[in-house]
Amino acid sequence: MEKDRNYKFETIAVQGGWEPENGDPRVAPISMSTTFKYDTADSLADLFDLKAAGHFYTRLSNPTTEVLEKKFADLEGGVGAVATSSGQAATTMLVLNLCSAGDHIVSSSTIYGGSTNLLGHSFKKLGIEVTFVDQEAPVEEIEKAIRPNTKLLLAESLSNPGVKVLDFDKFAEVARKAEIPFAVDNTFPTPYLCRPFDWGANIVIHSLSKYADGHACSLGGIVVDKGDFDYASHADKFPDLYQPDESYHGMSYVKTFGNLAFITKARTHVMRDFGMMISPMNAWLTNMNLETLPLRMDRHSSNAEALAEFLSGHPKVAWTNYPYLKGSPQFSRAKRYLKAGSGVLTFGPRGGRQAAEKLMNSLKLAKIVTHVADSRTCVLHPASTTHRQLSDEEQIETGILPELIRVSTGLENIDDIIADFDSALSAI
Ligand SMILES: *Cc1c(COP(=O)(O)O)cnc(C)c1O
Repeated sequence: MEKDRNYKFETIAVQGGWEPENGDPRVAPISMSTTFKYDTADSLADLFDLKAAGHFYTRLSNPTTEVLEKKFADLEGGVGAVATSSGQAATTMLVLNLCSAGDHIVSSSTIYGGSTNLLGHSFKKLGIEVTFVDQEAPVEEIEKAIRPNTKLLLAESLSNPGVKVLDFDKFAEVARKAEIPFAVDNTFPTPYLCRPFDWGANIVIHSLSKYADGHACSLGGIVVDKGDFDYASHADKFPDLYQPDESYHGMSYVKTFGNLAFITKARTHVMRDFGMMISPMNAWLTNMNLETLPLRMDRHSSNAEALAEFLSGHPKVAWTNYPYLKGSPQFSRAKRYLKAGSGVLTFGPRGGRQAAEKLMNSLKLAKIVTHVADSRTCVLHPASTTHRQLSDEEQIETGILPELIRVSTGLENIDDIIADFDSALSAI
């Protein structure tokens, strides 16, 4: 798609990332090739030295993956993106691109269970420490967690599974004062419903396995950079971005690539060494499914809102949590930061854990799966599944109550979805 035109979101979702030349396929092809041919040894050597742009090995870049990366960077409003094999790999790439052993991260505690494990346990073993903070704590309290060796502030725009809306203004202020990058996991809203770069984030990460793919068929992740963090003025704090990289003949990312320093290093250093690339086949599937992202997110959101309204008025339901539910304590914050509420809600039936399990077993249309954010309505009981590896205290800290049921509202007709929950509720 022509770059110099200021196209709207829906147009980028369909046509972004690919501008066919005369006689090229209209749809970006799947380049299932590990390697690429060059006429001379010198032209390939220039690619290795980062003196020229081009593909030479799919672990670093691939033409199909590049289409997805360009489109997604555009959708978020970033300068560039690197796609990864999963959301976990995207978080890993983010951390490894900024931190080494001895460094420290401050993260909201209200995040995906897999991220809690990755940050709190695996990175800890590698010498990178994380302090988890209550994202509703006052700004001074969050600031207290910042240390001289803190390199990153992390949170989720709309948390999984608690669907809590982040107070972007507060987190952006903490990061600005601490002079560290502020990264946001924007998986649940997708860039269609929330643009973290408009609210002070410097880096956005995603699990593409959720709404971006949207059909529960393909795993992926992505790291997008806004290109606005001033690494040059913080050379002491981020030496790997500023000091000469010996593995590239002493090149400095900041001096050579300017505002593309972070994203270039993510690819040519982290991706080169750790190899967490997405398969071109999966990049192609995700890219195709992104074409309908705006349509799907509108429907996911309206279905979830209608289901939340039904549940909140039901006598057997103790509580319902959906950011766009009128009367929700989150409603005004949700309206400020999110275009709509997205497709996930949580609720608790009266009768605790047992009632929750009975209800789950009585649903017919809504299936029990670990996944969220695809076209088919599904439910999950986090306390006994995704969050079972966390201790009871850790569960409560991430917002998991024993009766909590997470519903991912699909694209089916809302009458059928509500009827399914209505009959399951009458079974308890
Ligand atoms: C699912 C998820 C992840 C992890 O993504 P995978 O693709 O499953 O590795 C990270 N963050 C959030 C918010 C998620 O929902």
